[in-house]
Amino acid sequence: MMKFFAALAALAAAALALLVFAIFWLPTAQDLLFRSVVKANFEAAAEAPFQEKDGLHLILCGTGSPVVDPERAASCALVIAGQRAILFDAGGGAARKMQTILGRAALPDAIFLTHFHSDHISDVGDVALMRAAFGRQTPLAIYGPPGVERIARGFQEAYALDVSYRTAHHGAALMPPQSFVLQARPIIAPSAEESVIALEEDGITITAFRVDHDPAEPAYGYRVDYKGRSIIISGDTSKHPNLVRVGKDADIMLHDALNREMVEIIAQTAESGGAPRLAKILRDTFDYHATPQEAAEIANEAEAALLIYYHLVPPVQGLIAERIFLRGVPEIRAEGVMIGYDGLRVSLPVGSSEIEIGSLP
Ligand SMILES: [Zn+2]
Ligand SMILES: [Zn+2]
Repeated sequence: MMKFFAALAALAAAALALLVFAIFWLPTAQDLLFRSVVKANFEAAAEAPFQEKDGLHLILCGTGSPVVDPERAASCALVIAGQRAILFDAGGGAARKMQTILGRAALPDAIFLTHFHSDHISDVGDVALMRAAFGRQTPLAIYGPPGVERIARGFQEAYALDVSYRTAHHGAALMPPQSFVLQARPIIAPSAEESVIALEEDGITITAFRVDHDPAEPAYGYRVDYKGRSIIISGDTSKHPNLVRVGKDADIMLHDALNREMVEIIAQTAESGGAPRLAKILRDTFDYHATPQEAAEIANEAEAALLIYYHLVPPVQGLIAERIFLRGVPEIRAEGVMIGYDGLRVSLPVGSSEIEIGSLP
C-alpha cells in the first residue's frame, strides 16, 4: 500500500514538473494560460455582484490625502443607488483605483466635488476619459461649489488634444468627440445653516451643505438619500455642526480625519531634520481637518449608525499605526466606527436597517 502511494506521489510530482516545464518553455501552453486569465479578468470587470439587491452602496476608491500613501489613492467615494453610479471627488489615482476595483461595471454619470483642492479633483479628466474609452457617450456632469465651471472648462481644454488623437485613431463612430464632454453644474452656496438639494432623480436625493475648510470656500459636504437609506460625506472639514444637523440618523457617515499628535511628531522630525518649511505646512493643516475623536463626537451627536474615516492624515499603515490613529476614540464611540480603505464596500439594502461590509479586490 505504501508503495502505491509513493508511486502516486512520484507520478503527481512528475506531472507538475511537466506542467511547469510546458508553461515556462512552450509558447502554446503560455498562450493558453494567458487567454484564460484574460477571459477571467474580462468577465470579472463586467460584474458588480453587490448590485443584485436594490440598495445604496458605498465603494471607497480613495481614502488617502495629499500625503503620499502607496496603499491609498486620494479622495474618491463611489455611491451606487439603484442603477445610478455617482462619484464624490476624484483625487490622484482615483480613476485607476476605480478601474481596478470595479472594472467597467459602475461608470459614473456624475461627479460631485466637495471643493477644489487638487487631491479631490486631479483625476476628473482620467475618469471622463475612462468613460469615453468604455463607450459612454453622455456628458459627464460635474457638480460642485461655484467655480466648478472653471474646473470643467479646464479639464475639457487640457484633454482636447488627447480626445482629438483618439477620435482620429479609432474613428468618430467608436470614439466620438462628444464622448468627452464635461458639463458643469454649479450648486449655489446655501447659507451656513441651510442646505440645498443638488439632485433629485430616480429616487435619489443629494443634499449639499456648507462645511469649514477655510480658505477653500465654500466647501461642501453631501448627504445621499435613496429609498430610506442614507450616506453622509463630509469632504474636508474641521469639526462642524452641519454634519450633525444634516447627518441626523444617517446609516453611514464618511468623515475626514487628521491625527494631530501623529502629524506633530512628523513635523518635529522634519524640523530637527532641517525641513522647517515642511513642518510649517504640516502644522497649517491642523485647523481645517477634524481629528478622529472629533469626528466620533459628531457621529455620536448625529446618531449615525456607522462612522468610516477617510482622507487619513497621516497615512495609516499597519496595526500599530491604526492603534495610535484611533487613540481616544473607543472612549467616545465604542462601536460603529472603522478606518476606511481602498476597496471597502458597504451596502445598505432597501427595506432594512442592515449594513453589509465587504471588500472588493
Ligand atoms: Zn482640502
Ligand atoms: Zn483633501
